[in-house]
Amino acid sequence: MPGAGPAGPRPGADHGRAAGTADDGGTPRHLRPDAIRRPKGMGGGLAGRARGAGGRLTTRRWPRPARTRRTVGTVGTVGTIGTVGRVGRVGGLGQDDAVPPPAPSVPAAAAPAPAPADRTVAEVRRLVVAWFGEHRRDLPWRAADRTPWGVLVSEVMLQQTPVARVEPAWTAWMDRWPTPADLAAAPTDAVLRAWDRLGYPRRALRLQECARALVERHGGRVPGTPEELLALPGVGAYTAGAVLAFAFGRRSVVLDTNVRRVVARALGGQALPAPALTASEARAAEALLPDDDAGAAAWAAASMELGALVCTARAPRCGDCPVEHLCAWRTAGRPADAHAHRRRVQSWTGSDRQVRGRVMALLREAPGAVPEDVVAGVWPDGAQLRRCLAALVADGLVVGRPGPGDDDPPAYALPS
Ligand code: SF4
Repeated sequence: MPGAGPAGPRPGADHGRAAGTADDGGTPRHLRPDAIRRPKGMGGGLAGRARGAGGRLTTRRWPRPARTRRTVGTVGTVGTIGTVGRVGRVGGLGQDDAVPPPAPSVPAAAAPAPAPADRTVAEVRRLVVAWFGEHRRDLPWRAADRTPWGVLVSEVMLQQTPVARVEPAWTAWMDRWPTPADLAAAPTDAVLRAWDRLGYPRRALRLQECARALVERHGGRVPGTPEELLALPGVGAYTAGAVLAFAFGRRSVVLDTNVRRVVARALGGQALPAPALTASEARAAEALLPDDDAGAAAWAAASMELGALVCTARAPRCGDCPVEHLCAWRTAGRPADAHAHRRRVQSWTGSDRQVRGRVMALLREAPGAVPEDVVAGVWPDGAQLRRCLAALVADGLVVGRPGPGDDDPPAYALPS
């Protein structure tokens, strides 16, 4: 019997923490905001000089019956993948959910739903997969001629970025860098410019690091085992599981927020899954998985698509759902989100993410290094801007350069 696949996160991130909020712990002392002198006349403006030796700028649920119990994260014939703790794609956000959603309006709090019967589970899987056969989107990374590299790129891009924005970016990216070797050889500033406004640009850096590792360790090919995938830079449990399922048709648990929501509602009777993936939820998801590779891969893709298109976070279209008559949440009267009090709602406006985005946009569009007084113009709060700039430097997304003369201000640019 094939083993279980990776218990996945995501946003995810397996792919690491959400970008844009990097702390300064990894920032060289002289680059920390409080160590960067403000230039005269800039008030709360941007960093002053930050030069090092030599005058160079040195900036820098529900439990399943025991019948098919498996250990979370243990992959029978495939190996071991991941740990529980991350949710869906990077940062707990799925491909069609950029922000933790409010619970749909509902009557009352929920009591735990009883375990669904095996025949109900099997019927839900059958109906969802059949629905997928008729309603699936023709996305380029699902095409018959897709490559494992294309699938990997799509999974990285889809972390916290909606499909509608990813599709054109993925197509352009694959035209330009169709293989890992192509991306590995590209200038980093070109990679960051091509990433454009997909957000969380550290993903682009990690993807290039991954491409270089693929060239060095695997002859430029994407490997097909969980161990090898998980050893790649930027590849965590969710991404490894998704690549195994969608590129290689292997049995693996692929738990993004869309899948988690469908399972929580249809079989768990919950409005929404817990903010963070729990061990019991991961075990339940693993137990749900068909034993065969093809069936498991089909369930992964179909349940993800149902969550993205029908069983959406804010307004599920139950009338269009193939399992409406079996849905535990609807049968229970659509009880309220029991985890609502634990959900964080992050505001974009005024956030460090917004500031970082403005800096990155400025540098992407500039042909060369941008003087700091120009960078200072992107945000009125100088302290916040200095903090974000220092974080960008620490993340390797921005580099500082000395000005042309001793009295000229330093400048900032994308890494080359
Ligand atoms: S019936 Fe509604 S809530 Fe239940 S799985 Fe379908 S879309 Fe989701």
